[in-house]
Amino acid sequence: MRLIEKGVLIVISGPSGVGKGTVRAAIFEQENHNLEYSISMTTRNPRQGEVDGEDYFFTSKEDFLERIDQGQLLEWAEFVGNYYGTPLDYVQKKLDEGKDVVLEIEVQGALQVKNVMPDACFIFIAPPSMPELRKRILGRGTEEIEVVNKRMAKAEAEIGLAHEYNYIVINDTVDNAKERIMHIIEAEHSRSARVLENYNKNIAEL
Ligand code: 5GP
Repeated sequence: MRLIEKGVLIVISGPSGVGKGTVRAAIFEQENHNLEYSISMTTRNPRQGEVDGEDYFFTSKEDFLERIDQGQLLEWAEFVGNYYGTPLDYVQKKLDEGKDVVLEIEVQGALQVKNVMPDACFIFIAPPSMPELRKRILGRGTEEIEVVNKRMAKAEAEIGLAHEYNYIVINDTVDNAKERIMHIIEAEHSRSARVLENYNKNIAEL
C-alpha cells in the first residue's frame, strides 16, 4: 500500500502591517493549491469586517487560558496585550490527510513550533523598509497612534529574529511575494529528508 505523504507545515511570520494577510489571501485565491489555512484563536476584539470562525476564533481570556492548560494549542503568544494561539487538532488532522497547512503567526509562536516541529518550513515576510511599514500600518487606519508605535517597536524586535527562519521574502509587491512563497512551498516537497522518508517506505513496490 502506498503511504500518504504527510503535508508540509508552513509557518509564515512578519511584522504586523507588512501585508501578510494580503499575501496569504492572494495565495489562497489561486486555483489548484493544496493548502489549508489554520484559523487562529485570539482574545483581541474583532476589527471591523472580521468574521468569527473565518478570520479568527474570537474568545475570552478565561477560555484561552483553559485551552493552554488542556494542551489544545500547538503554540501561543501574548502580542500587544492580547493572546493568540493555534488549535493543535486541526493542524494535525490536515497534515495527516496530506494537506499543506499554513500558519500565520508572530515570532514567539513560530519559535515554539520550531522546537516541536523542526522540519516545518519557516518563512519570514519583511517590509521593503521601516518607513514603508509605518505607512502601511497607518494606512490601515484602525489603530490608535499609541498602538501603532507599539506595533512598530514590536516590528523591529521581530525583524531582529528573521534569521531563525528558513526563508525571508520581501513584500515589495503582493504578486512577487506570493510567487516566491509558492516556489518555496514547491521546493519544500523536494527536500531530501521529506522525499526519502516516503521513498524508503515505498521503495519495495516502486
Ligand atoms: P493581528 O492583531 O494584527 O491580527 O495579529 C497580531 C499578530 O499576531 C500578527 O503578527 C499575527 O500574525 C499574529 N498571530 C495571529 N494568530 C496567531 C497565532 O495563532 N499564534 C501566534 N503566535 N501569533 C498569531
